Amino acid sequence: MGEIWIKEAERLGDGSIGGAMDSPGAPGRVVWHTTESGHGNTYFKNIGDYLIRAGAEPHILYDPNTDRLGQYGPLNQSARALKNDGGTRTNRTGRVCIQVEVLARASNPFTGYWKPGPNFKALMRAIRSWGVPDTWPAGALAKVYADKNASRNRTTWATKGGHYGHSNIPGNDHWDPGNIDRAALLKAAPRESTPAAPKASTPKPATKPTVDLSNLIAAARRDPGLKQGGTTHPADVKVVEAALKAEGLLGASYAKDGSFGSLTRAAYSAWQRRCGYSGSAADGIPGKASLEKLGVKRGFKVKA
Ligand SMILES: [Zn+2]
Repeated sequence: MGEIWIKEAERLGDGSIGGAMDSPGAPGRVVWHTTESGHGNTYFKNIGDYLIRAGAEPHILYDPNTDRLGQYGPLNQSARALKNDGGTRTNRTGRVCIQVEVLARASNPFTGYWKPGPNFKALMRAIRSWGVPDTWPAGALAKVYADKNASRNRTTWATKGGHYGHSNIPGNDHWDPGNIDRAALLKAAPRESTPAAPKASTPKPATKPTVDLSNLIAAARRDPGLKQGGTTHPADVKVVEAALKAEGLLGASYAKDGSFGSLTRAAYSAWQRRCGYSGSAADGIPGKASLEKLGVKRGFKVKA
């Protein structure tokens, strides 16, 4: 499995543009396009929005001057920048069919003036992660509109992985990306220099401990009468001790014993006073309201 979302790319649109590939057994490929527009952030925004309105999203929008990189949809699903070739859904051909719209014009090949940077390398890293070879199986790109020298061979498209221009796609008539320097494009991100994919951080779902109020009350009534350190429901008490310690109400050396002894009761009493209780309502025997308040603040749930 290759990279589905490029970590370095900003997300564009709602993240959903296509669907499953029709021929996932065929090798992965990339199709290069140009937006036939200027570049820079205003075009990035306006063309970026236009492609959504038009329902013609590629996977990637790239500014060749600023190295800005945006991504509309997951690389392992189809994009929408190609026309079908009769019954063949060109957007869904191959293991992946990664489509890149470059903010440029076909008539002024962007490899003549671009400034590829780290984001271009990240894009190429993601492309290669799908096994897309550094080749141009259809050969030359169109130099002008309707250039007959640019191949749109169906068999090549159906069977060969690698890089294509929109001018190489059967059933399509656009001539973008123009006569870009195919070798220079690949050389701008040499394989050996391609940075490793940043590790995806998978935050663990926070599992909050649960404290049973009746267990806690039983411990608060019983433990002070036991010999030092005696416990009744240590698992529940430990959670509350840690919370009282975090509140600065209980010393660290008493905060892990699981015993709701006299010091823990005194600490809990201080917590109750902090909550606004006094007298017998702040006797150090936990009540539902004060315990829930402590739980919200210190990350545990209360079973009452
Ligand atoms: Zn195109």
